[in-house]
Amino acid sequence: MLDALRHIVQDLDAAPSFRAALDMIVARVSMILDVEVCSIFLRDRAGRFHFVANEGLNPEFVGKLSLAADEGLVGVVAERAEPINLEEASSHPRFFYVAGLNEDPYGAFLGVPIIHVREVLGVLVLQDREVRRYDENEVAFLVTLAAQIAGRVAHAEATGNIKGLLPAVAGDTTESRFKGIPGVPGIGIGLAHVALPTARLELVTEREAGDAAAELDLFESAIGQARADIERINQQMAEHLGPEERELFDAYLHMLDALADDVSARIRAGQWAQGALKQAIFEQAAVFERMQSSYLRERSADVRELGQRVLAKLQEIGDIKTALPDSLVLIAEEVTAPMMADFPIERLRGIVSLKGSRNSHGAILADALGIPTVMGAGDVPIYGITGQTVVVDGYYGEVFFNPRAPVAESYRQFLAEEEEFARELEDLRDLPSVTQDGHAINLWVNIGLVSEITRSLDRGAEGIGLFRTEVPFAMGDRFPTEEEQRAIYREHMEAFDPRPVTMRTLDIGGDKPLSYFPINEDNPFLGWRGIRVTLDHPEIFLSQARAMMKANVGLDGILRIMLPMVSRLEQIEEASALIQRAHREVLEEGYAVKPPLVGVMIEVPAAIYLVQEIASSVDFIAVGSNDLTQYMLAVDRNNPRVADLFEEVHPAMLAALREIAKRCHEVGKPVGICGELAGTPEGAVLCVGMGYDVLSMNAANLPRVKWVIRNVSVRFCRRVVVQALKMRSSKEILAFVRNQLEQANLRQAVPHHELPVRG
Ligand code: PEP
Ligand code: MG
Repeated sequence: MLDALRHIVQDLDAAPSFRAALDMIVARVSMILDVEVCSIFLRDRAGRFHFVANEGLNPEFVGKLSLAADEGLVGVVAERAEPINLEEASSHPRFFYVAGLNEDPYGAFLGVPIIHVREVLGVLVLQDREVRRYDENEVAFLVTLAAQIAGRVAHAEATGNIKGLLPAVAGDTTESRFKGIPGVPGIGIGLAHVALPTARLELVTEREAGDAAAELDLFESAIGQARADIERINQQMAEHLGPEERELFDAYLHMLDALADDVSARIRAGQWAQGALKQAIFEQAAVFERMQSSYLRERSADVRELGQRVLAKLQEIGDIKTALPDSLVLIAEEVTAPMMADFPIERLRGIVSLKGSRNSHGAILADALGIPTVMGAGDVPIYGITGQTVVVDGYYGEVFFNPRAPVAESYRQFLAEEEEFARELEDLRDLPSVTQDGHAINLWVNIGLVSEITRSLDRGAEGIGLFRTEVPFAMGDRFPTEEEQRAIYREHMEAFDPRPVTMRTLDIGGDKPLSYFPINEDNPFLGWRGIRVTLDHPEIFLSQARAMMKANVGLDGILRIMLPMVSRLEQIEEASALIQRAHREVLEEGYAVKPPLVGVMIEVPAAIYLVQEIASSVDFIAVGSNDLTQYMLAVDRNNPRVADLFEEVHPAMLAALREIAKRCHEVGKPVGICGELAGTPEGAVLCVGMGYDVLSMNAANLPRVKWVIRNVSVRFCRRVVVQALKMRSSKEILAFVRNQLEQANLRQAVPHHELPVRG
C-alpha cells in the first residue's frame, strides 16, 4: 500500500497539468483498490461541489455536473468533515439521484473529505455494485491519499491551475495570495519581475576538451568578467550601503577565486570549461546542502548564482533584461545580494524570495536598503507571472498577485496613509519619549549593520538595546580579528556616544550559523546556540569582550554586554568571570576603561522561573521575545506553515512578560524587551503597562512607537494590561488593545490591513 501511495504521489507531481493529475488519481485508485467507481469532487468558492474526475460513471458528466452543499452524500461528507462508509448509498436520506449519471447499479459508497488547513476542498468517492462496507485498509488508504492530495489542491487553487476545472464565481478574479515570512516591514506595490537564470548549469553536458589551453583562456576571460561584474555592483552599492555591508561582495570575490582554482584544475585534467564549471559548482553546492543548516543552504544558493553568472559569460549570453517597469517587485527562487544589486535600487518596490529566511544575505541587504520583503514564499509560482501586479506585505509576510480591485485599493490607501503618517512622524525626532503622565520610556534600537547607524539616529534612537554582533561576523569568510571587531563596535559607540550601547555576545547557531564555522545538527534551535557556543570557545568570547571594551575607550556612553540564550545560572557565572578577565587584560594592555554593565536575555522559558536570581546577579535584564515566543509555544519562528501559531501576545506570553518585569523590579534591576513585539504599538502599550523600562526595536518602527508613547499615559497602559491579562487568546488580546488605541484616537499607528472579504 505504501509503495502504491508513494507512486501515485510521485506521478501526481510529474503530471503535465492538474487536470491530468486528477484523472491519473481516479484511474490508479480504482485499479489498486479494485473498485468500480472512483470520483473526485472539488468545492468552488461559492460552496458547490464539481464533479471533476471520474472512473466508472458516465464520462459526459465530468466537468458539467455540480452539486449544492445540501445535495447528495458528497455534501454530507463535507459537512461532517470525516469519511462516510455506507453499504447501500441509495437508502441514505440525503442520497441525490442524478439521471443519466449511471450510478444506479452501485450500492457501496465511501466518501473521504479532502481537507487542507481545516478547510474541506473536495471529496474523494469510491463506489461498488456489491452491497458491502469498505474495510479499514481501504478507508485508511483513501484518507492518506486525500491528505496528500489536499496540499496540491490548495496549491492549484492558489496558483490558478485549478482554473477551467471550476467555474468562475461572480466577483472572483485571478487574484492569488501566498504566505511567506515577514522579511523587511513595509508595503510594496509594483509589477512582478522574475529573475530567472539566463544560463542553466544543469543543461551543460560534460565532455573532453579538444584544446585545454584554449578552454583555460575562455574560462579565465569569463571569470574575469564575472569578477568585474561583482566589483561594479560593489561600486554601485556604495551610495546605498556602508563598507561593512559591502564586505559581502568581497566574500563573493573570494568565492570566485576558490572557484577559479577548482575549475582550472578540472580543465587541465581534460574537461571542457563549461563541464568543469558545472562539476565544480555542483560539488561545492552539494557540500553546503548536505550540511543541513539553513544558513549553509543559503550559501549553496550563492555558489550556484555565481556559477550561473560565470556560465552566462562562457556562453556569451548578454544581459537580456527587458525594459524594466518604474515600480518593480523582484521575485526569484532565491533572491541573492548580487542579484538584487543588478536592478536599479530606486525602482525596487518589493522583494519576494521563494527560499530563504530573515537571515539570508538577500534579506539582510533588503533591510539595509529598506525594501519591503517577504521571504520563504515557497508556493509562489515562478513562471508566467512577470508583468502581473503584485502587492508585497512585509509586515505580515503576504504576497498578492493580480489583487482584486478592492484589495489593491485598500493597500494603496494603506500605503498612502503610511506615507502621510511617516511625514507626521518625522517631526518627532528630537522630542522626548515621555508619556502623557510624564513617564520617560527608553526607546532604543536593534542594530547589526553600520548603515543602520544613521537611520537609527535620524529616527531619534536614545541608545542601542541590541547589537546583533553575529551580523558583522556573517559578512566575512572567517572570524573577524579582535581589531576588526573593535573598529566596527567603535563606529557604533562613537556614533551613539553618550548614549548607552548594548552589545550582545555572539548568538550563532539555530538559524544563524556562520559559513566558515559549520554546525551540523538535527535540531539546531535546540542545539549549540548563543552562549552555549561561546562558553565552549572562550577564545571567541574573550576576544569579543575585549574588543567591546576597547571600543568604549574615552567615551561617556555606557557599554552593556548582554548574554543570549541563558538557561542556567552557571552560564552567567562563567561568562561574568570571562568578562572580568577580559577587563583585566584590557587594563593590562594600557586601555583605561570602566568595567561594562552585564545583562542577560530572557529567551529560554526556564529563565523565567530563575529571573529573580538572574536579575540579582547581573546589572540588567532584556527579554528576547522572538525566541521566548518560539520556545514557550514550541513554534519555529521561521516556518510559514505555523506562522499563525507564533503569537507574541499569547496569554501565556503576557503572563510570562508580566512576571519577568515584576521580579526584576522586586530586586531593583531595570528590565527591557528587544524582540519584535517591542516595536509594535500594541506590544509597546502592553510592555509600558507592565513596567518595562526599555523598548528596543528596529529603527523603522521607532517613530511609530514614540508617537504612541507620547499619546498615552502609563495609567492607560496599565488598565489595558489588567484587562488583557484576563483574556483567553491572543486574537482577543490584540483586538482589545487595538480597540483601546482606536478609542484613544491612536489607531492610525497600527499597521493593519483589514482586507475586503472574498466575493
Ligand atoms: C529575540 O530572540 O527576541 C531577540 C531579540 O534576539 P534574536 O531575534 O536576534 O534571536
Ligand atoms: Mg534571540
